[in-house]
Amino acid sequence: MADTIFARIIRGEIPARIVHDDDLCLAFHDVAPQAPVHVLVIPKQPIASLAVATEADATLLGHLMVVATKVAATLGLADGYRLVVNCGLDGGQTVDHLHVHLLGGRAMGWPPG
Ligand code: 5GP
Repeated sequence: MADTIFARIIRGEIPARIVHDDDLCLAFHDVAPQAPVHVLVIPKQPIASLAVATEADATLLGHLMVVATKVAATLGLADGYRLVVNCGLDGGQTVDHLHVHLLGGRAMGWPPG
């Protein structure tokens, strides 16, 4: 799998505003926030996209979700938030390293764009 900007963040080669770090994943503020709170939760073991995840990744994927909820609580998103996983071209994915967007701090519209 090709190296990505997120792999470089995991290796500490590019600075990021990290809000969570454990053995399995890293969470950090998005460089171009789309909401007052915009955090990315990424697995340290890269998966290119949700489309290539397998049953073997199920525990890791669940962990990303649980971490996102913990980060949301830590950052005070008591009124709610949105988790988004963009997948592939039509999904709007631009970085080929699976990531969960945590968006909050304002009311979200529906349907998404
Ligand atoms: P995608 O479009 O793939 O779902 O989301 C990729 C996200 O990564 C975008 O929201 C983009 O702003 C963010 N991003 C891209 N490069 C960097 C970077 O170098 N640092 C941080 N913190 N976020 C980045």
